Amino acid sequence: MATVVDDLGVPVLCYGLRVDFQGHLFPGSATLLALADEMREVRTICHCGKKATMVIRQDATGRAITKGDQVQIGGNESYVSLCRRHWRAAVEGDG
Ligand SMILES: [Zn+2]
Repeated sequence: MATVVDDLGVPVLCYGLRVDFQGHLFPGSATLLALADEMREVRTICHCGKKATMVIRQDATGRAITKGDQVQIGGNESYVSLCRRHWRAAVEGDG
């Protein structure tokens, strides 16, 4: 995509999540963060009112899942956006 921008002069817009439910960068996101000319954050709010920068994957009972494949096709209903403090509490079992 950088080649398209630089060599063809075509603007490219990309959207995506920065980190997975384990707090790790997606490989594609890491490359985008490294090469992007400009970044804009789409704000999401945690239940506490702070900016949500993290996401948990939860099971049917609402408990945070901490292991599994980085990408799970479908199942968007099992993801919840949280601030880092509440993400840590959820994945550490305190919340
Ligand atoms: Zn929060």
